[in-house]
Amino acid sequence: MNYKLALIGFPVAHSLSPRMHNAALRALQLDGEYRALAVAPEQLEVTLHDLVTQRYRGVNVTTPHKQAVTAFMHELSNAARAIGAVNTIVIDDVRLIGHNTDALGFMRGLEQAHFDPAQRSVLVLGAGGAARAAMYALKQAGAQVFIWNRTRARAEQLAHKFGAVVCDDMNASVDLIVNTTSVGMTPHVEESAITLADRLDGTIVYDLVYNPRETKLLREARARGARTIGGIEMLIQQGAESFCLWTGRAAPLEIMRAAVAAV
Ligand code: NAP
Repeated sequence: MNYKLALIGFPVAHSLSPRMHNAALRALQLDGEYRALAVAPEQLEVTLHDLVTQRYRGVNVTTPHKQAVTAFMHELSNAARAIGAVNTIVIDDVRLIGHNTDALGFMRGLEQAHFDPAQRSVLVLGAGGAARAAMYALKQAGAQVFIWNRTRARAEQLAHKFGAVVCDDMNASVDLIVNTTSVGMTPHVEESAITLADRLDGTIVYDLVYNPRETKLLREARARGARTIGGIEMLIQQGAESFCLWTGRAAPLEIMRAAVAAV
């Protein structure tokens, strides 16, 4: 089989996914290529049609299409339906099957830090696509979730959807703080979504931003005694799960890690 794979988003030039997936295909000696395609919102439907016609096997979906793309799926996984967003499409002949591997990738990032969210309190910053996946995963794992967002109405919507509580005090005492906003991303590396409390001993701060590897938020959190988790492991793990859905093969995690570490 020739694994024709693509990422669709707008923009996509910065993405690390082509490196990661092309390295994985090569390592397992599978024929195929993973390409990044810049797709404007008005081109979404026709692009999906073209990918089916060109016999693509799989697609990753990134900003701003993760929610819009759900309307074109013939089938949705339970996670994709509950989250309301698709980041992975398996093309089975002409059928488009939508999955969401962000939630699993998010949880594996927590597992690496040996943090079990069951019965623990978590503050999620942000209410976009990444927040949806994180909140779904956290609620499934039995956490008590609080949410803060710049635009409060969006926080209210997600709180209602996932059974969380809107929080206006960003310094509420919690076990885990998760930044799902894009604040702190390159080139705005001197920005942080939150002004942290003076001491954070016993708290974990998880930033889903992976570029830069250590954001200002994580630097400041560490200086206050918190344990920190960066977004790169989630990126690798969600990619590994997508790879497995497309190829039926276990993803070569160390190869994928090395491919993105080199950047
Ligand atoms: P999104 O749907 O566009 O949501 C962006 C969020 O950031 C919204 O809550 C938005 O608030 C908030 N925000 C943006 N600028 C802000 C500012 N200046 N001050 C305060 N809040 C601000 O984006 P997304 O898809 O959720 O992605 C968010 C981040 O997660 C990105 O950095 C992305 O790279 C990262 N991510 C990482 C992974 C991974 O595998 N590690 C996976 C997915 C996403 P408003 O609602 O007020 O606009």
